[in-house]
Amino acid sequence: MYDLSLGVSFFERGWLSSNNVLIQDAEQAVLVDTGYWTHSDQTISLVKSKLQGQPLTTLINTHLHSDHCGGNAALQAIFTDASTLIPPGHAEYVDSWDAEVLSYKPTGQHCPPFKKTGILLDGDAVVVGKKTWRVHAAPGHDPHSIIILNEEDGVLISADALWQNGFGVVFPEIEGIAAFEEVAATLNIIERLKPKLVLPGHGAPFTDVNEALSRAKSRLTQFKSYPEKHASYAAKVLLKFKLLELQKSPLSEYHSWARATQYLHILHSTYVSALSFDAWIYELALSLEKSGACMIKDKFIMNA
Ligand SMILES: [Zn+2]
Repeated sequence: MYDLSLGVSFFERGWLSSNNVLIQDAEQAVLVDTGYWTHSDQTISLVKSKLQGQPLTTLINTHLHSDHCGGNAALQAIFTDASTLIPPGHAEYVDSWDAEVLSYKPTGQHCPPFKKTGILLDGDAVVVGKKTWRVHAAPGHDPHSIIILNEEDGVLISADALWQNGFGVVFPEIEGIAAFEEVAATLNIIERLKPKLVLPGHGAPFTDVNEALSRAKSRLTQFKSYPEKHASYAAKVLLKFKLLELQKSPLSEYHSWARATQYLHILHSTYVSALSFDAWIYELALSLEKSGACMIKDKFIMNA
């Protein structure tokens, strides 16, 4: 946990849950992103430890991926008066709870249904402790993602648009929707905003923003030149994410989950012709094992 003074707390989580930012003053307590649903208890105790009895007044999601809004339902059950603000793109699908459009089904992930009370548009601002947190549209990783800049202090909540080493999977590209240019445009927006400190959706906060931007740009150039590299990165991220959730699984059940996961099928049919689906999944698992991200032993696969 990082206490950034001026009422801003940054909870750095693992990779299954997104990081969370709590912004407080005497009247308000605003939480940005709520982690994955299996970590809801941990999210609640982290938030409560900083609230010290103060009610949570607002929940904000930078985007609606399961690892960023999975704790919404649990927090809403406790803080019944809190408002929940989300980006506009998929807001109507939250109202009707469409797990297909909201990506939970095709990714083979889960998110407990929650209610929204409002949306955050590009240019909107949330003012806490006399500081303006300005919303900027940040498409790419997710077409509807936002990032939020504290304009006085130059602190940027960058979600999955910029990490210290890269950025999140470009999800529209999995479905064949061109979005690498949107990633580039969003990196340019971040460059123009000149943040002094970045609070990313995953990983530690960082101040070497220009270096992070050039790392992200060169990664993007690679993905543009070799889309199959992005495809394999995306598949591995989906596989690793499930392992982070399951920790240990019989290989047969892991394969069954993969077979039921639509995005993996799309990636396989678009980019892989030499291997059957199951053989491809196993090869990706072996490659994750080689990089130290998992262990395969006695017909089990384990997170590492
Ligand atoms: Zn995301």
